[in-house]
Amino acid sequence: MAIDPTLPYDENNIFARILRGELPCKKVHEDDHALAFHDINPQAPTHILVIPKGPYVSWDDFSARASADEIAGFIRAVGQVARDLGLVEPGYRLLANIGRHGHQEVPHLHVHLFAGKPLGPMLAG
Ligand code: 5GP
Repeated sequence: MAIDPTLPYDENNIFARILRGELPCKKVHEDDHALAFHDINPQAPTHILVIPKGPYVSWDDFSARASADEIAGFIRAVGQVARDLGLVEPGYRLLANIGRHGHQEVPHLHVHLFAGKPLGPMLAG
């Protein structure tokens, strides 16, 4: 079910628990500002989630409250993951779902990185 992105940050959401090491993940990148790991239910041959380490519910919350260092670190991490995985050429897709109409399910900001085949038109349905 889609979350309400205006609610306060939930310290026990699944990605907070992954960040604390309480739940496992298949990690592909970690630095001071970001963690990247494989999605548990991949929608493309490569499907990575990149999350900031700070407690931000959504892109909206992050863009409003995060420091310039956190924002730069997170954005750079997304690009670094794509380069490290060799995705710049042939290309990839980034997606961030926000709130109800965006169908966001986990209330910790995450950017989806899809790759590994031609991804087709931007939106289905
Ligand atoms: P959203 O709809 O919020 O943008 O996407 C949430 C994503 O998190 C989904 O693609 C879902 O498969 C993924 N996900 C949910 N729980 C877990 C988990 O415990 N581990 C990992 N690696 N991914 C998860």
